[in-house]
Amino acid sequence: MSKRKPPHPETWVAKGLHDPAADGGAVVPPLQPSTTFARDADYRLIGGDVYQRPDSPTLRPAEDVLARLEGGAEALLFASGMAAAAAVVQALRPGDHVVAQRTMYWSLRNWLVGFCRDWGIGLDLVDAADPDAVARAVRKGETKLVWVETPCNPTWDVVDIAAAAEAAHEAGASLAVDSTSATPVHSRPLELGADIVHHSATKFLNGHSDVVAGALVAKDTGSPLWQRVRANRRDHGGILGPFEGWLLLRGMRTLFLRVTRASATAMKIARHFERHPKIAAVLYPGLESHPGHGTAAMQMHDGFGAMLSLRVAGGREAALRVAGGCEVFLRATSLGGVESLIEHRASIEGPESPIPDDLLRLSIGIEHPDDLIADLERALKAV
Ligand SMILES: *Cc1c(COP(=O)(O)O)cnc(C)c1O
Repeated sequence: MSKRKPPHPETWVAKGLHDPAADGGAVVPPLQPSTTFARDADYRLIGGDVYQRPDSPTLRPAEDVLARLEGGAEALLFASGMAAAAAVVQALRPGDHVVAQRTMYWSLRNWLVGFCRDWGIGLDLVDAADPDAVARAVRKGETKLVWVETPCNPTWDVVDIAAAAEAAHEAGASLAVDSTSATPVHSRPLELGADIVHHSATKFLNGHSDVVAGALVAKDTGSPLWQRVRANRRDHGGILGPFEGWLLLRGMRTLFLRVTRASATAMKIARHFERHPKIAAVLYPGLESHPGHGTAAMQMHDGFGAMLSLRVAGGREAALRVAGGCEVFLRATSLGGVESLIEHRASIEGPESPIPDDLLRLSIGIEHPDDLIADLERALKAV
């Protein structure tokens, strides 16, 4: 056999790893809605599946694609990103200790704080962008999980994944990385030492703002933590539905195209507004001025993601007027779709929010970069 280079991920993702020869020639992977699977006269399963709560044939191709994209041993899809994260945290036991990031996806941090308090799990929230903070917070033998998000919402601070992994492992803990904003296009945390990668697949993986889904990818399926995660999905019933899984795989087939385009546009927007008189700060790890740039440049590739935040000179009122003046950007929460979104985070999070009230979070889509820049320029002129 002649030696061929293995294909790039773009190439097999485009086909969703689907083999038409194994599926009656169909070019598109199938959707199987059946909740239950029949047995023969001797009570042997006809296929391998039993019931759609523990495992679902429609999800398997999407899970295989994601596991391979992340370089993991196994991926599991969940009904939401929150369900996926909860499956990890609920694999812990009372008396265990968790180290998590102070600045991270808001709903997850709030749930985590309440859950750990109610279930007797110790929790330390740290500034994980400080490379020594995780090492200082872990407790040998007691800390079971370190949870970080990088780049993290909504400051896009960067966590050194390899350093966090070392600190976690030193204490005997597992490292889970929420890689929702980085996507496997830019970052492969398992290769840097993480044990579990988490995604809100609602965001860039699906990419079309029409599916709520979550995913976990494990480096090693044999770990006791992962065994309990898998049992949690089966027993808590947080599995993704087949139609959503089918749509998710359809979305992932264009992942590289969407994300590389959106990230390149995010970089253009960040550069354009970096020294703008009406912008107090641009938070984007692709800029040399961002405190996490050095680490990001080391552990991310082919771009720095499609998320950035602008701090508007003039404070809360000015920021709200800029958001209100946009016509191309849609004013909505969430991120990772083909359409660009603008959001005043402090309004969404309420009075308790630690987010500066001059901050606008931008999720960049696939529109022409010039139109997005012009939209923001127009809205800024009015303040
Ligand atoms: C959206 C999001 C989540 C939660 O995911 P859902 O799919 O909304 O449940 C978790 N982490 C990050 C970084 C997110 O953006």
